Amino acid sequence: MSQYFTPVADARAHILSACSPVRGTQHVPLRDALGRVLAADVVSGVNVPPHDNSAMDGYAVRHADLAAGTDTCLAVVGQAYAGHAWDGEVGPGQAVRIMTGAVMPAGADTIVIQEHARTDGDTVIVPPGQKAGQHRRRAGEDLRAGEAALSAGRLLRPADIGLAASLGVAELTVYRRVRVGVLSTGDEVMSIGEAPREGGIYDSNRYTLTGMLARLGCDVVDLGVARDTREALSGALEPAVGEVDAIITSGGVSVGEADFVREILASLGEVTFWKIAMKPGRPMAFGRLGKDGRDTLLFGLPGNPVATMITFHFFARDALLTLMGVAPLAAPLHFPAVSDSAMKKQPGRTEYQRGILTLRDGQWHAAVTGAQGSGILRSMCDANCIIVLGDDCGSVAVGDRVDVIPFEGLI
Ligand code: AMP
Ligand code: MG
Repeated sequence: MSQYFTPVADARAHILSACSPVRGTQHVPLRDALGRVLAADVVSGVNVPPHDNSAMDGYAVRHADLAAGTDTCLAVVGQAYAGHAWDGEVGPGQAVRIMTGAVMPAGADTIVIQEHARTDGDTVIVPPGQKAGQHRRRAGEDLRAGEAALSAGRLLRPADIGLAASLGVAELTVYRRVRVGVLSTGDEVMSIGEAPREGGIYDSNRYTLTGMLARLGCDVVDLGVARDTREALSGALEPAVGEVDAIITSGGVSVGEADFVREILASLGEVTFWKIAMKPGRPMAFGRLGKDGRDTLLFGLPGNPVATMITFHFFARDALLTLMGVAPLAAPLHFPAVSDSAMKKQPGRTEYQRGILTLRDGQWHAAVTGAQGSGILRSMCDANCIIVLGDDCGSVAVGDRVDVIPFEGLI
């Protein structure tokens, strides 16, 4: 039997090359677009802001009127408020009292902020040293009419929704949601509500997977638990093929079980079984199940709860983002930290340790959460990051630099 282990990067590249965005799109009201993926560019029909306006409370003046080395007295001839422009023209020796957001009056080119000015009746006294054009926001400086304000492929965040709103756009064209079926496997796996039985364990993988999929913005279809029989597995998978975009199973892909799972998956489509050079999460299957020209991706993740989450994160997540239409994929936020833990490791595989990040004296430190067994889900609850020890990395001593991926927003 071959002892070849597939590197993480190769398996990821293979999976990503098999993924492309779903075809359907829909129009959604702006308020419902958060977390959806934009399917068509949003082109600005207007300048934002629409007019030159003041960035500060103060006085709108003509810079050419101001003396270089001494105070200048100007006559205050009007007032401009946000939403209430002053529609005269500022002439030589004149100024207009202006508030933040008010349209720049004709003739004026510079704002003198109120804290720098003194007043004496209807006269404002401006000290020297004012820069030409200061505190004036230009029309279109946020967005120019005709420019793409937001590009297709963007996973919409609150600022994007605000930007679309600033253009007066009421609805956006987004990709349809990706539908993902989640199936647990195993004779020992019990559903919540079932009476505990000898040798049984409650299913946690369907819950962690459903949570991670919901965070991504996928629609989740619960396919339940399949017993370790041919009939149960094909009975659970077959009806879902073609109905969902992807199926994620957990368990049943490790050596020993793989043969009968392999047989069933082979009858439904084309699936590759891997032993990946990683810990946790070595066994994994990926492929395509097909029916009537409609196909469904299959991610066969290992059953151990930590391995399920880690393999979902490093293999399924980016694949699903690609299906969702997100492009280009943002590189995961990772940064170096000082290790507070010693970790034994052989080069030649990637290890993912559950870690706790803390900031001390301006430096990020990472320590492993207690026991790191791939069945110890508590290690994921306690952690706030993953410490990634790459293929080439050997054992880590306290004080060494390690690469960390924070959980925030991901898991
Ligand atoms: P398997 O990959 O099927 O050999 O399972 C590996 C380990 O993960 C076994 O200890 C299983 O009992 C456990 N396991 C499998 N599926 C689940 C699940 N849905 N929830 C919790 N543990 C599971
Ligand atoms: Mg099993």
